[in-house]
Amino acid sequence: MSFAAVDVIVAKRDGYELGEDAITWMLDAYTRGEVAHEQMSALLMAIFFNGLSAAELRTWTDRMIASGERLDLTGLSRPTVDKHSTGGVGDKTSLILAPLVAACGAAVPQLSGRGLGHTGGTLDKLETIPGWRATLTTDEIREQLETVGAVVCAAGQGLAPVDRQLYALRDVTGTVESIPLIASSIMSKKIAEGTGALVLDVKVGRGAFIKRYDLARQLARTMVDLGNDHGVATVAQLTSMDTPLGRCVGNALEVTESLEVLAGGGPSDVRTLTLELAAVMLELVGINIDPVAKLDDGSALATYRAMIRAQGGDPDAPLARAALNDVVLAPREGIVQSVDALQVGLGAWRLGAGRARKEDPVSAGAGVVCLVREGEAVSAGQPMFELHADDPEHLARGRATIEGAFELGEEAVAPSPLLYERVAK
Ligand code: URA
Repeated sequence: MSFAAVDVIVAKRDGYELGEDAITWMLDAYTRGEVAHEQMSALLMAIFFNGLSAAELRTWTDRMIASGERLDLTGLSRPTVDKHSTGGVGDKTSLILAPLVAACGAAVPQLSGRGLGHTGGTLDKLETIPGWRATLTTDEIREQLETVGAVVCAAGQGLAPVDRQLYALRDVTGTVESIPLIASSIMSKKIAEGTGALVLDVKVGRGAFIKRYDLARQLARTMVDLGNDHGVATVAQLTSMDTPLGRCVGNALEVTESLEVLAGGGPSDVRTLTLELAAVMLELVGINIDPVAKLDDGSALATYRAMIRAQGGDPDAPLARAALNDVVLAPREGIVQSVDALQVGLGAWRLGAGRARKEDPVSAGAGVVCLVREGEAVSAGQPMFELHADDPEHLARGRATIEGAFELGEEAVAPSPLLYERVAK
């Protein structure tokens, strides 16, 4: 069936529900180059204002999945379960979670992306390990899932390829912040990846993509319903992203901190969040093993080392360190009222840990170590943040941002909660 693109745009603009055939035609014709970018942009804006019904969203997501390949991960001897985070500052949980859940008996296919903006990407972190390779074939992914149980690798260009075109348009037309467009973008890639179960870590707060709790909850519900409708057992956990997760923000710095958690130590918030997400993942695939035991007895660390080796990496090689470092000192005595995740993320980015455009390189060693946390008392001149950068220009730019990333006061401050509600089927 054929449509005029303008009729589809006008119908959505005027608040009508689009039929399955109209959505299918529009997305397929856009992929073939028959619908112009400006027409798709107009439709995206109409969706931004009028939303998509559950039926429309399902069709929209189906067509995004159908625009590319779908991995077949069936027939493995272990059940598959993945985790996706909507992105946070200092969020290194994937590095710990994949081997931990694999050590408990599941297969974890973590097909990830690189970082853009103020939140880091899992691949950028692992690429600081000498020799480690992000690109695997589907056969290599299956083989590693069977032998090691965990794979963290680059999501191939073939998964929901229309998402890349739509995301590029959304980025330049002010239509990124739409719940149905975000949900279909994330879930089309995760469903195409072929996982049997999925846990979504939906971050909310100052450093998150979504800052309002009601919107984060709505996004979680939409993604959970989409996953379950497509046969992927999906649960979301809403978590706080007001303050950075753990102490380290930056690629190699976060690998080092992940190793501390894998060795049974590390910051308590990283450990708590990882164990909570691991418990939900294991519950979804019916594995009744306590992940705490696997973290504390060294099994998760052994699986991590096997996972790094299987992808060519040397888990014992020293990680890159930035050439320069500096500290931000407390300007006076006081109690740390807040450490703003967004500002710390931007600071790490300006120090060189992140990229502004997809093709930019990132520095392996650059980043921030938060030496103090909310609620802690500091004396005048006490070091609060350690800064790492490769050159004086990045160091100065990062420093200016980090100096505005915290507030000191006199009030006692209770640590803010890390885990909010769970959204299930
Ligand atoms: N991440 C995605 O993959 N897509 C979005 O639309 C937003 C965040």
